[in-house]
Amino acid sequence: MSLNDPPRAECELLIVDDDLSTRMLLHSVLGKQGYRVVEAGDGAAALDAFRNRRPALVLLDVMMPVMDGYTACREMRQLDPESGVPILMLTGADDMSAIEQAFDSGATDFITKPINWPLLTQRVRYALRASDMTRELRHNRMRQKSARHLTRVGYWQWHTASDRLEWSEDMHEQLHLSPQSMAHLDALLERVHVDDRLRLRQALNVARRANAPLDVEFRLRDDHGEERILRLACEPPEPDERPHENLILLGAYQDVTGIRRTEMLVDYLSLHDNLTGLPNRRFFLRQLDTAIDTAKNKGGQLSVALLDIARLARINDALGTAAGDLLIGLIAQRLKEKLPADANVARIGGDEFAVLLTDQSPEQATHQARHLLENFNQPVRIEDREVFVNISVGIAGFPEHALDGESLLQSAQEAQHHARELGNHGIAVQSARLGRAAEEALALEHALRLAMDRHHEQFHLVYQPQLDLRTDRIVGVEALIRWQHPEQGLIPPPVFIPILEEIGLIGALGQWILEEACRQAREWSERKLRLRVGVNLSPRQFVDGQLATQIHDTAQRIGVDPGLIELEITESLAMHDPDTTLTLLAALRQKGFKIAIDDFGIGYSSLEYLLRFPIDTIKIDRAFVMHITDTPRDRAIVRAITAIAQSLGLTTIAEGVETLRQRDFVDALGVTEIQGYLLGKPMRAEELERFAREFRGSVLE
Ligand code: C2E
Ligand code: MG
Ligand code: MG
Repeated sequence: MSLNDPPRAECELLIVDDDLSTRMLLHSVLGKQGYRVVEAGDGAAALDAFRNRRPALVLLDVMMPVMDGYTACREMRQLDPESGVPILMLTGADDMSAIEQAFDSGATDFITKPINWPLLTQRVRYALRASDMTRELRHNRMRQKSARHLTRVGYWQWHTASDRLEWSEDMHEQLHLSPQSMAHLDALLERVHVDDRLRLRQALNVARRANAPLDVEFRLRDDHGEERILRLACEPPEPDERPHENLILLGAYQDVTGIRRTEMLVDYLSLHDNLTGLPNRRFFLRQLDTAIDTAKNKGGQLSVALLDIARLARINDALGTAAGDLLIGLIAQRLKEKLPADANVARIGGDEFAVLLTDQSPEQATHQARHLLENFNQPVRIEDREVFVNISVGIAGFPEHALDGESLLQSAQEAQHHARELGNHGIAVQSARLGRAAEEALALEHALRLAMDRHHEQFHLVYQPQLDLRTDRIVGVEALIRWQHPEQGLIPPPVFIPILEEIGLIGALGQWILEEACRQAREWSERKLRLRVGVNLSPRQFVDGQLATQIHDTAQRIGVDPGLIELEITESLAMHDPDTTLTLLAALRQKGFKIAIDDFGIGYSSLEYLLRFPIDTIKIDRAFVMHITDTPRDRAIVRAITAIAQSLGLTTIAEGVETLRQRDFVDALGVTEIQGYLLGKPMRAEELERFAREFRGSVLE
């Protein structure tokens, strides 16, 4: 319905005024517009008419005998609190207090006397239209309400001047959070987990002052004292609503407790920066390593840009750390906005941000960075001051400057030091090419090709024992490949396996490893030593569509029970192409093989997702075990993993257990098996056999 639509036939208006001539005039003017009109001469009569006729709109005079307009208005609202019938009050022209009182009693709008007739008809029409929309909205709201209950979503609004907060009324029944108890920002923050307060406050500050969208997650206590995770979002105000005194921000909230718990909340909390909510250094390195893996697999490239804010310390000194924090928040926000959606931004240090640009060469990244810096030519406003931000950028690329995340970041950092010397908004690209390393790789590649031609005689397998903590018995081993280089001695697998993958020979070696491991498992089981043998699969083997059949045929030919063979795939590999992984694992599982997820926890993936794969074992990466005795966060992660594994009946193996204290910790956290130097280094088959037969748990005491 638009403003020019004719009035609807069923529209009946109630006109209330003690002055007969005003009433008649109103009646005739509105009647001409096509409305039906009912009249009342005082408040009490008006109430009767309201009750009986249910008018579509009420025009209500203020000053009347028997019952005045304010009282009548209040009564009408009480009679029908839900309906939202528009009530327009007729007040004196410049009587501010009357107007205020009118609104206080629940009036929708006011019209001043003497009446401006064209304006009157407009207002009436407008109010009716709005009430139509309200009715429609109410219906929508009811539909939405049930949808919201399913998704645990609601609405909130924030009066930024007074910090008053309003929440959906049903928030309490939905989330056990009573809106009244969070009616003020301070009260909300009071409930929020201490570790999340600063970040939330910061996000709100940026939303309020910088016209930026808000999307933040935090932990808070509900009315029962339980911890929940709430996600709060809102869009920036419209351009004509630029931040001003009485700005009201509207948005939605969602209870994401359930979602995040399964997605491993700990990940979020330990991998994000408190202040900006951006990924932290640790998370960034994970993202970087994953991206490098992908680039390696498809022969792609990527670049890292490291941004350093010059003299942040000075800003902190001059304006206070709160202002410095605000500045960082603003910069983070601006980076997110201005960079392509697929760029990963992280805060990796106090005054350092890093950006991962996939598929971009250092030259392209430089271009991108130059573009980005233009956004910082203007000063930034904080706390009524203008601050110029000077950023220097260092850029390094894979594969030309480094081959792993840590070194790539370091290269970018070196370049950034040069950039700083260039002065204002300097940008520099790492200049040192990978020289020697690349040459060495070439020589190794040559030696490897020779070794592969010589029927694998330079290769052998070693086996590292795995102990079941409940029964104190050696229940499995992991087979690990060794290459005896004719001149250089033992070369570690992380050095030569990537080369084999690159030159396409990993399939052949992988097949040899599988045969060896199967043969060994069969031999042991024939001698009444039942050991589960873990075999590592490499990504290149994985993409082979025939892998399941091939593994099955090999095991059958050699005559080993597939139940003794556990195939280890890394987390990042599994997640690379989840659909293919799922099909492959299901096929292998169906043939009786066991499946383990290797190096779990260091790739970035959601646990919930990973657990859709049919697996038997989770191998918790050494990185978590290493610091388990002194890092509560690592403990929390391990605890989360074992809790879920237990509920699904999965085995968990802690990798790299080197000390008794580490063993005690992982034991206490519910890990079922351990592997590591504490128990034994990888050893030759004969030695392992002796070890397993003679093993007594007591040697660890
Ligand atoms: P992985 O599968 O996670 O294997 C565990 C690695 O941790 C082994 O290194 C093992 O020697 C080492 N390790 C075990 N306990 C400890 C400990 O207490 N402290 C420390 N610092 N390290 C420990 P390794 O043999 O050098 O193998 C490294 C990686 O190379 C393996 O990681 C695996 O990804 C790959 N790899 C090894 N053998 C094979 C293989 O036969 N095929 C394939 N595709 N990859 C293999
Ligand atoms: Mg492994
Ligand atoms: Mg591992």
